[in-house]
Amino acid sequence: MSDFPIMKCIVKGCDNHKGEGQFVNDICSPCHRMLTEGVVTPSDNWFATEITIAIERTKKAEVELAACSAAFDKQQEQLDRNADLLAEKKKQWVDLTDKDREECLAKHEKFGWWSVIDAIEEKLWEKNGG
Ligand SMILES: [Zn+2]
Repeated sequence: MSDFPIMKCIVKGCDNHKGEGQFVNDICSPCHRMLTEGVVTPSDNWFATEITIAIERTKKAEVELAACSAAFDKQQEQLDRNADLLAEKKKQWVDLTDKDREECLAKHEKFGWWSVIDAIEEKLWEKNGG
């Protein structure tokens, strides 16, 4: 135990000393104001530091969430466009002959689904006289 009176603000992390500013008993007036009024001002004390970090994290998370949301909307738009395109192809599929359909589907294994869609378009183009 020190024999000296407490010269420093008793709040952990705060380096304000008596004689440098106003105190309320052993708590400096900035710490006292933050605790009693709930308004955080710049300070190295533990709770202002924690609150500042939490606010920064929240801001960063909000920015990341907005970016995620925008990316999601973009994906949703693309899915909607694909759904429209597939609905159109389904209608066109009906107009093809069995032989044309077989030829279109044969592209799937080699080149994937989008090549089937291209093939449908080609067949209809040929059918309609090119
Ligand atoms: Zn203090």
